[in-house]
Amino acid sequence: MITKKEKSDIKMKKIFKDKTYFYIFIAYIFSLLVHSIWVYQFYGYQPFMWNGQFMINTNDGYFWAEGARDLINGNHQKHDLSPIYTAPAFLTAFFYKILPFSFETIIFYMSAFLSSLVVIPIILIAKEIKRLEVGLVTALLASIAWSYYNRTLVGYYDTDMLNIVLPTFLLWSLMVALYTKKEKYLLYTGLEIIIYRAWYPQSYSLEFAFFILIMFYMGYQYYKKQDFTYTLTLLTFMMFAMMGLNGWIRLVVVLGLYFSLKKGLLKQYLYYIFWFSIIMFFLTGGFSPMWGKLKSYVFRDSIEATKDILQLHFFSTMQTVREAGKIPFEVFANRISGHSITFILSVVGYILMVRKYPIMLLGLPMIGLGFLAYNSGLRFTIYAIPILSFGIAYLIFEIANFFQHAILKKVFVITSVFLIVLPNIYHAWEYRVPTVFIKDEVKVLDDLKHVSSREDYVISWWDYGYPIRYYSDVKTLVDGGKHSGSVNFPVSYILTHEQIKAAKLARLDVEYTEKKFHLIDEGKIEKNSLELKRSNIAQMTLDYGFDNVNDFLTSLELPETKLPQKTRDIYLYLPKKMINIFPTVAKFSSIDLTSGKTITEPVFLVTRPIKKQGNIIELAYGKSRFLFDLQKATIKAGNKELPISTFIVTHYDKKLKFHKNIQNLSFYGFVVIYMESYNTFVILDQNTYQSTYVQLFMLENYNKKYYEPVLLTPFAKVYKLKI
Ligand code: MN
Repeated sequence: MITKKEKSDIKMKKIFKDKTYFYIFIAYIFSLLVHSIWVYQFYGYQPFMWNGQFMINTNDGYFWAEGARDLINGNHQKHDLSPIYTAPAFLTAFFYKILPFSFETIIFYMSAFLSSLVVIPIILIAKEIKRLEVGLVTALLASIAWSYYNRTLVGYYDTDMLNIVLPTFLLWSLMVALYTKKEKYLLYTGLEIIIYRAWYPQSYSLEFAFFILIMFYMGYQYYKKQDFTYTLTLLTFMMFAMMGLNGWIRLVVVLGLYFSLKKGLLKQYLYYIFWFSIIMFFLTGGFSPMWGKLKSYVFRDSIEATKDILQLHFFSTMQTVREAGKIPFEVFANRISGHSITFILSVVGYILMVRKYPIMLLGLPMIGLGFLAYNSGLRFTIYAIPILSFGIAYLIFEIANFFQHAILKKVFVITSVFLIVLPNIYHAWEYRVPTVFIKDEVKVLDDLKHVSSREDYVISWWDYGYPIRYYSDVKTLVDGGKHSGSVNFPVSYILTHEQIKAAKLARLDVEYTEKKFHLIDEGKIEKNSLELKRSNIAQMTLDYGFDNVNDFLTSLELPETKLPQKTRDIYLYLPKKMINIFPTVAKFSSIDLTSGKTITEPVFLVTRPIKKQGNIIELAYGKSRFLFDLQKATIKAGNKELPISTFIVTHYDKKLKFHKNIQNLSFYGFVVIYMESYNTFVILDQNTYQSTYVQLFMLENYNKKYYEPVLLTPFAKVYKLKI
């Protein structure tokens, strides 16, 4: 008989003998430390802090934070777009409940703690092929490699924190499944797919790629006349886990499948069940997201045209997102491996590794997704990191084998590891991203929370939607996930057109937005109906009896516009930083909706003074130079001389009170606003000068019949609508 103590002693010995845990521990701590370099860099920097903690540095994070906050409070407002039924919000709320830290602390550090978990599946994969040391080196590199760091450092509170961890776990279970043919890995695989999908609904493409690859493997087994029963069972589990049904249903199905397997009920009907799973996958719409994606690639359109009575053409957000052109090889390689040489050696190492361990071929979908970055944006590079890190780690140990002496071998390995990791740590050291908002900006939103009600709307550009909803707990028209051309149009119009039309359109758009939610709730608008897809602006045009949207917009100038019943307050949030994106904001409403053609784009040039000679100030706008001559009231661009009608100087005094000085110089021409406190000259055309943003934020010149100032600071200004 062995006593309990002896038993546990044996167990402990086993744990220490098996270096797996130790390596995981080392790699995890290493990853945590590197992920926290940012904290060291900004330690004590007040503008980045709120409530005694650092703020997050990713915009989308405020979306999950809103959901988590509402989950913790146990309530949210109908149609406030709070993502309470999402895995990230749920996980955050869970951590908040079980941990003794503040909410701010949890959302700030979650990314570092969760993303570092990637070392576990990496080392487990290595353990499976009995190359534990290779696993350790892989984990040291993969957990902190350039783009992985960029998307998982402290404060990067977004789905990325598990977006590589989960598929790497999936990869591990698929590998071990095919390696060992043990039943429990079928269950693991099914569960991992369900969890991964719950965390990141777009995960279907990677899951599907794994599925296809394993199907090819089964074809190979068939060709070689090997027994492929296990592979077929694995595919069946995957297919059921990937159906287009609710996660809980899929969980029950996968569990049921596993128990029938355990009871030996599955084997004789395996073919039927497999085909049934395929049919279910298609019937439940499992394939439709992929079909949708393919379609969007084929019919990539820059203007969204609606198929409705009015046939409006909206500006698409895709046009403003930087065209994902060809990325230089060096950038691409750096993002994956930290250095071009490491990258090339990683590819070589991966090829060698696959020759020795063909199972590593299963990593191809992740490499493939990473290489998509070459034409669809750098954010995909993170997928290739774990697999290619395996490549370089393997190569290091292969080369080390050429050394005779054990010590030389060790020196070589340690030096190599140092060399591959170093560029990535250096990058982390240099990568000093700011927080999304600074303290003074958050202060405005926090104050706004205390004057507004949760049902009120705050209108601002979509970039600020999530943070506004998080800090002020209000509703917004647009945000980081809701910003198609048709919803952006009214907001853009409000911010970049004159005050009266802006105020009326603000009231209209808010009431139309809420009304539509209610009509849908009450079942008065049918799914897939034209009415549902119809934009607010089109609906307004029809309701007001126009058949041309431009006529409707012009009619807003008339004093007698009859507005819908006011159901709540509306605020305009105008941040200083919108100055930098004003031209982009304006693009969405500088379009003739009936034709899709751009109307003259507004002139809004943010320039900096670089030289002053007598009365002439040289202004820099990118590489262009303008000569602003105050005495002659002209501005010279190249050899063109243009008149200036108005010159305005604004500044804040020591008490942050706003002052302005307006000089009318001539009857027509451009307007120049010198914002002294920011040392910035803004050149505007007459229409843009009249726009709501310019008048309300830059000049505090508001129409008292329509607006009432609520919060006025140099960082952001908030006005309340009086209609
Ligand atoms: Mn709310």
